[in-house]
Amino acid sequence: MNEIESKTLYLVPTPIGNLEDITYRAVKVLSNVEYIFAEDTRVTKILLSHFNITKPVLKSYHEYNENEASEVIIDLLKNNHTVAIVTDAGTPGISDPGYVVVKKAIQEHLKIVSLPGPTAFTTALVASGLSTNTFSFFGFLDHKKSAKRKTLENLKDRSETLIFYEAPHRIIDTLEIMYEILGDRQVVIAREITKKFEEYLRGSISKILEQGFNVKGEMVILVEGAKQTQLESKLNDLSIEEHYNYYLQQGLNEKDAMKQVAKDRKTSKSNIYNYLLKK
Ligand code: SAM
Repeated sequence: MNEIESKTLYLVPTPIGNLEDITYRAVKVLSNVEYIFAEDTRVTKILLSHFNITKPVLKSYHEYNENEASEVIIDLLKNNHTVAIVTDAGTPGISDPGYVVVKKAIQEHLKIVSLPGPTAFTTALVASGLSTNTFSFFGFLDHKKSAKRKTLENLKDRSETLIFYEAPHRIIDTLEIMYEILGDRQVVIAREITKKFEEYLRGSISKILEQGFNVKGEMVILVEGAKQTQLESKLNDLSIEEHYNYYLQQGLNEKDAMKQVAKDRKTSKSNIYNYLLKK
């Protein structure tokens, strides 16, 4: 089989623990491209040898050479060579290198083929028991506590499930800051997914901190979205005009009433202003 197309960049997800999670298609692509660009060639070598893949030339593409390596990849593709990108684990571009080369390839009108496959956050989300209707993924929070606090402050009113990656040596700190800023929300720690010691810790932040857990390995933190109060949800069921009038009756001036309606409805003040103007 050689269905590999030239002038096409292949983005190939690899297992996040269990090697059996690689897809047939990923093995086929990796077996048949001429070049594989990998985050850490030593890690990828182990994966390739497990699947008896020996043909491709292995090159380095990581966060510190992303720009230069991207140029090399683009040149290879333009010269009709075949190239795949992998990272150490999971899907390229998801809290991992990938974005830069994809952007450049699009600018150069090259084709991108993104293979579906393992990624830690979706695997964790569907098993978390938290709402999957709406969710947001933020990757790693900033290492600095002040920046971490600021991001969480900005997220505290969001009602969707919030998903983060975190390193084991920061997990307790991060949970403590989450407790301080988001309150005692329900969280899920998905640890070592697809590996021998896979576990899901579910409960309030205080319970999880109190009971303690093995802080080794790889982890995803999933946080329940902010709950609307009964009053907020009643107000959000009203028309925008009724909602606005409610706050006027409560004694707020027009500007503050509009601001409050916008906040309750998680939209901008100008949206509310424009809507009321048209009435
Ligand atoms: N590209 C990867 C993906 O698609 O999920 C993510 C790479 S990022 C550098 C590594 C982080 O992903 C870890 O610190 C952890 O938060 C999460 N992660 C990766 N593998 C995991 C696993 N088996 N169990 C739990 N979390 C994992």
